[in-house]
Amino acid sequence: MSFSDTGALLDVDFLVVGGGLAGLTVAFVLAKAGHRVRVIEKRGLGVPAGGVRVPPNVSKLLAQWVPREELLRIGTPCAGTPLRHLEDGESVGYLHWKADVMKELGGDFLLMHHEDLHRLLYKLATKAGVRVDLNTEVISVHQGSGGVPNPSVSLSTGEVITADFLIGADGPRSVVRRVVLGREDIVEPSCLTVYTTTIPGEKMREDPEMRRWLESDDWPIWMGTHRSICGHSVRGHKDFGIHIYSWTGDINPPAGEETWEDLVPADSLDFSMHTPIVQKLLSLAPHLIRTRLMRRHEVEDDSSDSEGSVSISSLHSVSLKRPEGIERWSDGTSRIVLIGESAHPWQPGGTHPVSIALEDAVLFGTLFARLTSWAQVPSFLSAYQELREERCAIVKTSDLKNARMMAMPPGPGRDARDADMGKNNADEWDEGTTKENFEEMAWVFGYVASDEADEWWVNWGRYAQDARDGEEMKHMSLGFQMMSMMSEVTRESYEDRSEL
Ligand SMILES: Cc1cc2nc3c(=O)[nH]c(=O)nc-3n(C[C@H](O)[C@H](O)[C@H](O)COP(=O)(O)OP(=O)(O)OC[C@H]3O[C@@H](n4cnc5c(N)ncnc54)[C@H](O)[C@@H]3O)c2cc1C
Repeated sequence: MSFSDTGALLDVDFLVVGGGLAGLTVAFVLAKAGHRVRVIEKRGLGVPAGGVRVPPNVSKLLAQWVPREELLRIGTPCAGTPLRHLEDGESVGYLHWKADVMKELGGDFLLMHHEDLHRLLYKLATKAGVRVDLNTEVISVHQGSGGVPNPSVSLSTGEVITADFLIGADGPRSVVRRVVLGREDIVEPSCLTVYTTTIPGEKMREDPEMRRWLESDDWPIWMGTHRSICGHSVRGHKDFGIHIYSWTGDINPPAGEETWEDLVPADSLDFSMHTPIVQKLLSLAPHLIRTRLMRRHEVEDDSSDSEGSVSISSLHSVSLKRPEGIERWSDGTSRIVLIGESAHPWQPGGTHPVSIALEDAVLFGTLFARLTSWAQVPSFLSAYQELREERCAIVKTSDLKNARMMAMPPGPGRDARDADMGKNNADEWDEGTTKENFEEMAWVFGYVASDEADEWWVNWGRYAQDARDGEEMKHMSLGFQMMSMMSEVTRESYEDRSEL
């Protein structure tokens, strides 16, 4: 992006609460644009974590910041997803993540370890001049008031930091979210607990069957009753990350909190009824990180044991239907905003939470890289949410439904799922299936967050700049009217496509 059309960058101090993946990414993008940014992160680097999925919509952004070879050192391009029964390991189907299709969509579908991605973003942010305070917790957030609009935070050390603008990137249990909502977050336990672990590769190598999985580029899913287990190699085939998705009806009562800090012994779950390879893998788990999905009213939580129709193509992409009831992501003073999971908490261990959080960060950062006046801020904040909320909601709902589909109990629904998975081997896609799958994949993976922000600027954002000068207010309202018309059109087209 060129700054020649934007004038001088406004001198702003950004404070980011939460130095996770979204927080470090937004800090990096803002600092690269010339802003001053400080990040407060309550934990350190190298905390327990597992595998994450980095699809093309985000790997292509990362590849603009670091050489692809560096990404391939920490990420493995995913070849496909073998689908198997958890009870006996029987093969049900195989879903190809075709390299040529991913290339067409602009990036690799990478399998990584959370820690490696976190360290990469930390390095990028600090090199760009971001100050990151690790092991420092924000305990409260204060809006500006009266003539002083600046927000501030209190740290556990007693220190108070004031900034020009505050970004809440502090995850699902966000302290910033409470201030933006103006009330306590209303949550209740959902029907899903996810257990995450990393199996040391050196132990897997001693067993030929486990070594094959460690060296494979696949991301297998074992599908059981109220439980599914997936895994993939991480750290360039050095270790193996595993998630266990446990739904109501699996262990009773379901347990856990909405946190990545709850370590429980590996024998907290019974694996004795699973296929031997899964038992062997989990016998090597050092511990499990237990994370509960909490329900919020806007989360469409498919908690029933629905046996409705399913389609393997939905694994590739999403059901394009828009849930209702999304909250505002910025506060009334227009000085505090939420990004990533603090804006839209996600199912732990999903396919898309990392990519969607990074998209938020890049889109927000690209908009605010244009900031030349405080008068632009309300329009930038509206644009950020307008451009992001529908996509986030659609992908989130689909991610959860796909996870649910992997843990169906025996019955006609599960039989239909298996039949569908079996016949849809991607090697045998006919022309129609290929086209349909490609269109849906293109919607998810072809997205470029920075381009969305730039396009908004070119089409509408410049009018906000005119408005700042007090000359052409009418352009801004026209721009917003047209933007909301566009949004209606887009929504209709999503709804049309959901019937495909
Ligand atoms: C330690 C950790 C390990 C994870 N491991 C995996 C994994 O293995 N697989 C997977 O699929 N997903 C994992 N996730 C979730 C994944 O990172 C998110 O789904 C996704 O990246 C969205 O990121 P986010 O930055 O919005 O939120 P998060 O990743 O939740 O990051 C929020 C950050 O804010 C910090 N924070 C929270 N409250 C405060 C506070 N009051 N003061 C200061 N800092 C605060 C947290 O420590 C955290 O670093 C993990 C998350 C964390 C925090």
